[in-house]
Amino acid sequence: MFSWPTNYDACYTISGFISREGIGLHSGEKTKVKISPYEKEGYYISFSDKPCEIFKLTQDLIGSTMLCTAVKLGGRNLYTIEHLLSALAGCGLNYIHIEVDGREIPLLDGSAIQWVKAFEKVGIKKVPIPDNFFQEIKTPIILNKGGSVIALTPSEKTTIISTISFPYKAIGNQTFVIDLNPKCFVEKIAPARTFGFKDQFQELSELGLIKGGSLDNALVCDGDKWVNPPLRFDNEPIRHKILDLIGDLALVGLPKAQILVYKGSHSLNSLLASTLKN
Ligand SMILES: [Zn+2]
Repeated sequence: MFSWPTNYDACYTISGFISREGIGLHSGEKTKVKISPYEKEGYYISFSDKPCEIFKLTQDLIGSTMLCTAVKLGGRNLYTIEHLLSALAGCGLNYIHIEVDGREIPLLDGSAIQWVKAFEKVGIKKVPIPDNFFQEIKTPIILNKGGSVIALTPSEKTTIISTISFPYKAIGNQTFVIDLNPKCFVEKIAPARTFGFKDQFQELSELGLIKGGSLDNALVCDGDKWVNPPLRFDNEPIRHKILDLIGDLALVGLPKAQILVYKGSHSLNSLLASTLKN
């Protein structure tokens, strides 16, 4: 039986290659991804029609769109990379090559658990710790954007305390605290699916923006109830917010900090990532 490490004292890559295919959230088209171990530290991407052109993912290449995190690679955009990056960083995996056949990373079930399950199947092996595996935090950092706030204080480990507050009864106020390590990430965060709202879902569908969005890859909230229960956790939405934060910090390294987040968002997360990079 495979078991994940209970700390980030070592770094790992996967022991073999995995592949997954599924629908892209935006295009609604089928897209395929093959992930293999790579000889250099970091996360590398290539497209299957140009296998020799390999890009190292860096924070500078990240652009946030309204609906997902995209990355610009040699003139083309690759969409919806955040949950795969969260799976990799949360599990403490690095030295990774991702080959994409399509324009998006498949959304799968809207969480990170299917990537994790695929990694478990091939197993993991130890690699040297990369330079930016962690971000050492020397002084407190506070950032805010709109009504959202994120505050970091230096710590020996990565602890996330995250809160959301929605005027919908089905979600309401939720807070989750986690001392992050691969095992906790896999058990408590990776299965949490993305969530959206019924009216917004209809609006975006009519605009043709989420052709691949369905009740199979997102929890949909309709005021005081969920359109597609059951939930995997009572507080699945706040856990997914933490999943997104980990994905958004994957390229700069997880901060050794106590991280307090109030109403977190991709744009606030990427502001933090850019701040940490500098
Ligand atoms: Zn997400």
